[in-house]
Amino acid sequence: MQLGFIGLGSMGSAMARNLVAVGHEVLAWNRSHVDPDTMPGVTLLDSAREAFHAEVVFTMLSDDAAIREVVLDADLLRGARQGLIHVVTSTISVAFARELARLHEDAGLGYVSAPVLGRPNVAASGQLNILVAGKAATVAAIEPVLAALGKKVWKLGDAPAQANAAKLAANMMIAMAIEAMVEGVALTESVGLDRADFFELILGTLFAGRAYESYSAQIAQRSFEPGFKAKLALKDMRLASELSKEAGRALPMLDVVRERLTHAVSAGLGEKDWSIIADVDGRMGDVPSLSGRDA
Ligand code: NAP
Repeated sequence: MQLGFIGLGSMGSAMARNLVAVGHEVLAWNRSHVDPDTMPGVTLLDSAREAFHAEVVFTMLSDDAAIREVVLDADLLRGARQGLIHVVTSTISVAFARELARLHEDAGLGYVSAPVLGRPNVAASGQLNILVAGKAATVAAIEPVLAALGKKVWKLGDAPAQANAAKLAANMMIAMAIEAMVEGVALTESVGLDRADFFELILGTLFAGRAYESYSAQIAQRSFEPGFKAKLALKDMRLASELSKEAGRALPMLDVVRERLTHAVSAGLGEKDWSIIADVDGRMGDVPSLSGRDA
């Protein structure tokens, strides 16, 4: 199938390579220059507009603002190939997913939210978990394509925003797991217990599980190369906070992890992995206000 792909960052580049590997024709655009040698078999485009001439177009841009700028401000829906399906795999807000679904419907185009669980190394191995929501027929049409990207497609409903809410909740819970480990280490290191020994105990008894396994290793080794950048994690905590407000629910643990990430990003650590919150000053007092933008 002919596929457009917009956004060849850490995740998008790995996903586009996997689509080529199973025989799709991939026409890709990235804002900044991409060395063609790193994307064998991918046709690199001069404009994002051309990607909307394919049968299916994926966007894997950073956030709502990037998609708004690249797709909506540039009016790419008008002039898109008839019957095109747009698959947004970025982690975006529920409100923006609703807006995108409405705009695509108005333009006679298909829209699916398909945010993913898994870091770039997981994307590279084609083992993502893909959270999908959208009209059943539209989802069915792209399911064979998604098979190249992930080990499982989780169908979460007819309303695209359902997948985005699930993704935000999942990331919020990972951040909380990281915070739980940070606080466990704070207690145990205070009496001289090595963090690796503490994690061995915790993972081997009470907290076996993917999030604990992955992030305890990074925290134990004090290795904070991304992975998932702290600035993007902060974006996700902001989107989760927005959704909690819409739901009329106070989520105090979310407030704490959002503060931690705000602190890390304000300290210039936004490009580090989000587990960097284990390595920044843990005082929760004089952190910047939560209002306003992420960085
Ligand atoms: P990344 O490496 O920072 O890549 C971001 C991509 O967005 C790049 O292609 C970048 O282009 C592009 N971009 C950003 N702002 C833009 C703008 N205004 N106009 C045009 N292009 C713009 O991020 P990533 O880790 O791949 O994450 C991408 C999305 O996947 C995010 O929504 C993230 O939350 C989500 N996600 C990430 C992970 C993870 O572990 N990394 C896991 C699951 C989901 P340039 O190359 O020109 O900067």
